[in-house]
Amino acid sequence: MDKAKHSISDKRQQLLYLATISLALWLSACGGGGSGDDPGSSATPQATEDWQRDILLTSLTIDLEAMQGSADIQLAGSTTSSGASFESGDLIIAQVTANGRQLNYRNENGTLHVGVPLSSDHVTLSIDYSLNLQNNFDGLLDGGMSFTWPYYCGNLFPCKSAPAEGSGYELQINGAPPGSAAIYPASIISDAPAYMLAWVVGDYSSSNLGATAAGTEVGVYYPADLQLQALDGSRYLRDVFDWYERTYGPYPFGQAVASVSVEWGPGQFGGMEHHPFWHIASSSISDPWVHVHEAAHGWFGNGVRIACWEDFVLSEGLASYLTARAVSTIAGEASGEQVWASYAARLAQLQQSSGNKIAWPAGCQQIDILQDGLFGTAPYMKGAYFFRHLEFSLGVDLLDRILREFFQSYVGTAASMDDLLQLVEQSSGYDPEDCAIAWLRSETLPNGDNCAYQ
Ligand SMILES: [Zn+2]
Repeated sequence: MDKAKHSISDKRQQLLYLATISLALWLSACGGGGSGDDPGSSATPQATEDWQRDILLTSLTIDLEAMQGSADIQLAGSTTSSGASFESGDLIIAQVTANGRQLNYRNENGTLHVGVPLSSDHVTLSIDYSLNLQNNFDGLLDGGMSFTWPYYCGNLFPCKSAPAEGSGYELQINGAPPGSAAIYPASIISDAPAYMLAWVVGDYSSSNLGATAAGTEVGVYYPADLQLQALDGSRYLRDVFDWYERTYGPYPFGQAVASVSVEWGPGQFGGMEHHPFWHIASSSISDPWVHVHEAAHGWFGNGVRIACWEDFVLSEGLASYLTARAVSTIAGEASGEQVWASYAARLAQLQQSSGNKIAWPAGCQQIDILQDGLFGTAPYMKGAYFFRHLEFSLGVDLLDRILREFFQSYVGTAASMDDLLQLVEQSSGYDPEDCAIAWLRSETLPNGDNCAYQ
């Protein structure tokens, strides 16, 4: 994601809390408690909490007209645990079955616990539910578009929002209004974080921008009145995508990709890395750098997931750095220098502000990325400059070889910033730790020449 939505984040928690309260009131009024528990049955296990189960594949069918969903969630089998837990936001669960058999479940306080028969084999849970419209970029939005970053997937489907959690996905969207189409991937084969999955509904035109050398078809979707802006903004996209593929490795999320113009409302800008059809705010659809930035997340952030929200800089710092590299390579060095000039201005503005200046906080899953201010300029800009420092220290070719090895070692899994720093040291003999601390864990900028970038 580019730095887009500071203004929408603050009220989210409060709204989700209120939504949870009202759901709880509704459920207690109905006397049902939202529970499928059947204490009289010995054949099916009781609903049990277990957050450790690996989600292998999530197959979703969403009916936008009926506001109903059905999720087939394939889980790793277990011979020791009869539980499986998911975030379920304000979903109203109708039933949970496996192999046609009703399972016990408990859906309360935004979490769904299911009793799963012991099995050494994979188990597929079929969950039927109703969903609600959300109004704060936290689920299914008015007009039919989804948005769940960073941790609102539970308002859309039973999920785990931790960025390290990866699942394959299948998706089918029904019930789009007449005259509009839903834009989404039918299948995502390589494991992806839950926030990557998204769709948008609208009256779209599209243009094919050509195929890369590896055969990936690159395109752009836009409402007819934004055709010129969309084609202008995507003018480097095919060549940039081709460069990412050749430099860092095969794209993991299918053979057709596109930028998609979306209406997030007034004042919103930037994009969101919903690969393979990532979203770009209509106000930014003419900006080539946003297309280039969101495309980079196919490799870093999505292709390689971040291990913890604290590792956000691994996604955004690297995507920001690669934007400058790709623009410089494809559009020319002068254009690349313009990207760095804009980064310098953003960095200077950050240092003069009262905003969070720590790009890489210590710990793992200790922070709330919205409430604690990590979603801000620091991971994007300090991250970009740290990677520029690595380029300066190692040389661009060695840095690219290391990033390629990092991507190919971790694609489809999660990795931490520490994993990357260790690989840098192993592959180059240069220990980047001190400069990582100076750039990423300090409020001030590095002093002197030790951590220079030019
Ligand atoms: Zn981003």
